[in-house]
Amino acid sequence: MQVLILGSGVIGTSIAYYLAQAGHQVTVLDRQPGPALETSFANAGEVSPGYSAPWAGPGVPLKAIKWMLMQHSPLVVKPMFDPAMWRWGLSMLRNCTQARYEVNKSRMVRLAEYSRDCLKQLRADTGIAYDERAQGTLQLFRTQQQFEGSGKDVEVLKTSGVPYQLLDRDECVEYEPALGRVREKFVGGLRLPGDETGDCFKFTQALAKMAEAAGVTFRFGVTIEALERDANGITGVRTSAGTLSADRYVVALGSYSPALLKPLGIALPVYPVKGFSITVPITDASGAPESTVMDETFKVAVTRLGDRIRVGGTAQLSGFDMALDQRRRDTLDHVVSDLFPDGGDVRAASFWTGLRPMTPDGTPVIGATPVPKLMLATGHGTLGWTMAAGTGRVMADLIDGRVPAIDMEGLTIARYG
Ligand SMILES: Cc1cc2nc3c(=O)[nH]c(=O)nc-3n(C[C@H](O)[C@H](O)[C@H](O)COP(=O)(O)OP(=O)(O)OC[C@H]3O[C@@H](n4cnc5c(N)ncnc54)[C@H](O)[C@@H]3O)c2cc1C
Repeated sequence: MQVLILGSGVIGTSIAYYLAQAGHQVTVLDRQPGPALETSFANAGEVSPGYSAPWAGPGVPLKAIKWMLMQHSPLVVKPMFDPAMWRWGLSMLRNCTQARYEVNKSRMVRLAEYSRDCLKQLRADTGIAYDERAQGTLQLFRTQQQFEGSGKDVEVLKTSGVPYQLLDRDECVEYEPALGRVREKFVGGLRLPGDETGDCFKFTQALAKMAEAAGVTFRFGVTIEALERDANGITGVRTSAGTLSADRYVVALGSYSPALLKPLGIALPVYPVKGFSITVPITDASGAPESTVMDETFKVAVTRLGDRIRVGGTAQLSGFDMALDQRRRDTLDHVVSDLFPDGGDVRAASFWTGLRPMTPDGTPVIGATPVPKLMLATGHGTLGWTMAAGTGRVMADLIDGRVPAIDMEGLTIARYG
């Protein structure tokens, strides 16, 4: 079958790889000069099925107000006239009940756990290298109140069967020795030993090469303008390089997916949630993290990626604006300098921003649509790197006519009615 994949982020590229393995003729289109140059470029590097949970949860509206008032705020909302933003925000609020949280989380965990298994298998099959580490992640509590407040999260982990360890200060230092230099800054942590880390950009680049070797055609520098359809479904994709046709079309355009689907009458509730990262060259490896340390106070993740430290965080609602805001960088600088003061040279860090394609319920939208030949793989939000391999595999199975290894309940656009 001929398949056109729109978007060569980590999601589109993963789908292309698995489809090529199944023997399909695949072309990937992207406006950038290479794969993973937008949101998949410099994320926080966590492959974290253990933290697969929607942002919308009980108590979040109150917490959000508190966060917005903090100096180094994890949440920034730019008041603006954008009906899509307010609709998305209201829908997110409606998902903040305990019942919705449990449903949404179970869907996310289903895909994330499967994805971690697919990633392991992919490593075993191909030897793909991307500064990966399988040493778990550590959520660090600066206050006793945070430590005690983790009880609810632990309950959820227990119910979902996710392995975890509650650690006191000394035990945290056993796993992250550099934290021994700043012992007074934290009281303990919650470790998820099953989580992994790695560079999403390196992964996607390497996977694209493997996909290409397996016959996939990547067409870069091509802007996708519209989908064309008749009564039998999609007939082509109008692009800056002309109109292209295939047997199946997969939209994997991250935050830019809804605009393409709107003219077809598909209302996809994906909104860009802006995040920031800095990448710090390591100057003293013994002062750097071993894996990911997630600072619970500022919601900032500090991850070891080879000879660099990636520091990522902030959720900012400000539409598609891509400006680099110095105040957001100050927060990231503050956290890494506070927890790993000797690890790297923060002044030499590169600064980046990306738009998380977020659904209000946290779960991505993958699989078939009501329009024949059109499929979606988007809305992966905070966890696109974590869920990429699993999404690739599931999409390839669906296109190939096989039943995916996980239940598709609640993962397709059908859940929005
Ligand atoms: C600060 C930050 C930290 C994060 N940390 C983590 C983490 O630790 N772990 C995790 O799992 N996830 C994390 N994420 C989320 C993760 O990065 C995303 O979910 C993931 O990258 C989304 O991948 P994607 O392929 O859907 O989108 P993208 O990578 O954005 O890919 C979409 C592609 O579509 C192309 N495109 C768009 N419009 C057009 C058009 N009109 N024509 C042609 N091409 C087009 C773009 O060029 C792009 O290449 C983080 C995100 C941010 C911002």
